[in-house]
Amino acid sequence: MKYIGPDFCDITSLLTDEELLIQKTANEFVTKEFLPLVNEYYEKGSFPTKLIPVMGELGFFGATLPKKYGGSEISSTAYGLIMQELEKGDSGLRSVCSVQGGLVMYPIHAYGSEEQKSKWLPKLAAGKAVGCFGLTESNHGSDPGGMTTKAVKDGNDWIINGSKMWITNGSISDIAIVWAKDEDDIVRGFILEKGMKGFTTTDIHGKMSLRCSITSELFMKDVRVPDSNRLPGIEGLKGPLSCLTQARYSIVWGTIGAAIDCYETALSYSKDRNQFSKPIAGFQLTQKKLVHMIQEITKAQLLSIQLGKLKDDNTLDFSHISLGKKNNVAMARECARSAREILGANGIMEDYSVMRHMMNLETVYTYEGTNEIHTLIIGQKITDLPAFE
Ligand SMILES: Cc1cc2nc3c(=O)[nH]c(=O)nc-3n(C[C@H](O)[C@H](O)[C@H](O)COP(=O)(O)OP(=O)(O)OC[C@H]3O[C@@H](n4cnc5c(N)ncnc54)[C@H](O)[C@@H]3O)c2cc1C
Repeated sequence: MKYIGPDFCDITSLLTDEELLIQKTANEFVTKEFLPLVNEYYEKGSFPTKLIPVMGELGFFGATLPKKYGGSEISSTAYGLIMQELEKGDSGLRSVCSVQGGLVMYPIHAYGSEEQKSKWLPKLAAGKAVGCFGLTESNHGSDPGGMTTKAVKDGNDWIINGSKMWITNGSISDIAIVWAKDEDDIVRGFILEKGMKGFTTTDIHGKMSLRCSITSELFMKDVRVPDSNRLPGIEGLKGPLSCLTQARYSIVWGTIGAAIDCYETALSYSKDRNQFSKPIAGFQLTQKKLVHMIQEITKAQLLSIQLGKLKDDNTLDFSHISLGKKNNVAMARECARSAREILGANGIMEDYSVMRHMMNLETVYTYEGTNEIHTLIIGQKITDLPAFE
């Protein structure tokens, strides 16, 4: 089997047959099921939710988790390749999968009670339930430690008050992992269920980026949550931050997919498009752009495979993920811009994917830790000096 995509440095030889087969499955799903729908949903600012159970059936959600809970125990590299193929389709499609797996299933699996795991993980894995992750608030984005959402103990229950902003899949979710501070200012994670009294959502409209994705606000007004819905295995900000490490790993791989789609589109277009009586791919200035793209994609591929190995060896540090997220998102954003230039006027049209990727990558550049925040994380790692404040 062969790697699907540009394989300048024989990436195929670094992957197992199982990983390549998983990539093929994800590639076929995106091509057959998702791409025919993407422009319609991008235009209306929504997501084709009917695909969620299909992705569940294909095993895309929480795929590295134990089979006992609905996972498939695949390698982190195979999981990354799924993310890559999904984001080749659209960053919104990959977001659905990385939120469900990294931000909802991961905390339940890592920090949940046995009852929470057996109740929710198989349903989430099958795409029969949808989850979201509520950390960001309107006044606390890069600095989530400042959150004002409160959880106050009342007998065997907690009373939660506050709101969360920019929450992917908020309004279509059956459960929300909501992070709130208790009376001692300790951050705790709760599983809020759709229909709990006082728990409501509204969708955010007017996005110019990640339009094929549902983004919502969550409101909690005196929501009574039983203590059995608290994640018992974690307290403090390291809870949500550890989940973000998982989801950022998906972005490390996913953005390579967006970059590949832009590169392949630009390469093929530039060979067909003639100006001054020859293909524009034959101009040195176009080749410089194409070469820069393949060079950066190849470096990102190698980095991601190494991060996958470290993850499976349990030696991956969150600063490694920061390096991957920072590098690969910026790389994809640059590829999208270059591809748009190469396509000229056609580059702004929905007939080609490059402008959509370009717009989406503005969100990906910002969410799950902005480029600046990842710079500060790596800076602290190498200097031992925090420069956040
Ligand atoms: C479409 C979309 C979906 C999202 N989905 C989710 C979700 O599912 N769940 C969730 O919890 N959140 C989600 N988010 C929120 C996202 O994680 C935040 O937007 C992100 O953390 C940045 O926060 P902010 O937008 O408030 O920007 P701010 O924190 O206000 O940052 C603004 C600018 O200031 C810079 N800055 C901030 N602090 C520093 C510093 N110390 N030094 C230097 N520069 C700094 C930032 O890098 C940035 O450039 C989503 C966002 C979007 C756009």
